[in-house]
Amino acid sequence: MSHANVKDPWQEMLKRFNEAARRLNLDEGVWKILSEPDLELKVSIPVVMDNGKVEVFTGYRVQHSRAMGPCKGGIRYDINVNIAEVKALAAWMTWKCSVVNLPFGGAKGGIIVDPTRLSMRELELLTRRYTAAIAAIIGPDRDVPAPDVGTNDKVMAWVMDTYSMHVGQSCPAVVTGKPLLLGGSRGRTDATGRGVFDVLQHAAHRFNVDLRKARVVVQGFGNVGATSARYFHDAGIKVVGISDVRGAIYHPDGLDITKLREWVAKNKFVVGFPGAQPVDPMEMLTLPCDVLVPAAVENQITEENAAQIKAKLIIEGANGPTTDEADKILEKMGVQVVPDILANAGGVTVSYFEWVQDRMGFFWPEAEVNQRLDEIMHRSFQEVADMAQKHQTSLRIGAYMLSVERVAQVYKLRGVYA
Ligand code: GLU
Repeated sequence: MSHANVKDPWQEMLKRFNEAARRLNLDEGVWKILSEPDLELKVSIPVVMDNGKVEVFTGYRVQHSRAMGPCKGGIRYDINVNIAEVKALAAWMTWKCSVVNLPFGGAKGGIIVDPTRLSMRELELLTRRYTAAIAAIIGPDRDVPAPDVGTNDKVMAWVMDTYSMHVGQSCPAVVTGKPLLLGGSRGRTDATGRGVFDVLQHAAHRFNVDLRKARVVVQGFGNVGATSARYFHDAGIKVVGISDVRGAIYHPDGLDITKLREWVAKNKFVVGFPGAQPVDPMEMLTLPCDVLVPAAVENQITEENAAQIKAKLIIEGANGPTTDEADKILEKMGVQVVPDILANAGGVTVSYFEWVQDRMGFFWPEAEVNQRLDEIMHRSFQEVADMAQKHQTSLRIGAYMLSVERVAQVYKLRGVYA
């Protein structure tokens, strides 16, 4: 059973933002401004399909806050994309960039499409036409897209090329998560997973979870889930359960992630991996474990399953995996939830490094990228945990308070243009 889209993600975002705003005694004007995105663009995207017929897809680009610098955020290709989701994801990008102190506001894009049903040619045409449709509002100083669910470096290469054709010069800094040869950054593909691993270590230390004995369950085996699992495994941390869009597998003694990645490269899905037992993907969230890493989509931990969760620590690799009601249940149970806007901020942090490198035309070695990323994740984790402790609140509300306060300061200084 999937809970996806049962809750309106924009409302879920607003509940947390409003609570942080209340606790901060936020200026009423700034509060009102941040309660709506700055810009919402809906575009129709006609594509001549391989059968010669035209199909028209719907796409969005939402910019939540343009006050902090260029907007930043991924592009999602998924059949469940809808405006409420894109708005929420855009706002989460504002808070996420602010939590890790990047000079960006938040944006997000999406197309309602199942990319696995398109040929490579159709995918390229879709991407190019979408890019042309949003070209007027993106750009290195306006809004810088990146990969998200259903998109990857190849898609970013097409975005970069199409935009470059429109402006008449090669423009690598218009998009991040590109292939290295087009001005991508070393370490970008692994960055979100590496950041998840970083915050797991800091959270385990702070909340006394012994990672040598811990059992970890990871929901999702896309870029974030697979990379985090690989980091856990390489560090000797036992990953006992993994799921993907098709199913889930479990092994109480730990899964060999290296072998599982090889299996998935050949067979596409985790189910059938030799030696592991299949489990119901939703039940997997409530399996006996110490750490749970939801790394798929929104609304997975809800009021229906929160009370059954056994983990002591949840690290949100996905955006919006936990509903507000579930948060309240988990808080009562004493479960620490490292929120999405901190836990998965490694991706956008290295996107920032990529944008900086593109603009300098000078590229850093991977060790430098990783070291800078680790420092930012460490500092941000401590700032969030300290904020939560100071205000006797959850890590999530602590993270929102930290980020909303920073954003509010900028709005106050800039004032309202008339
Ligand atoms: N899509 C990623 C996220 O949700 C990365 C965004 C970016 O790098 O701009 O954080």
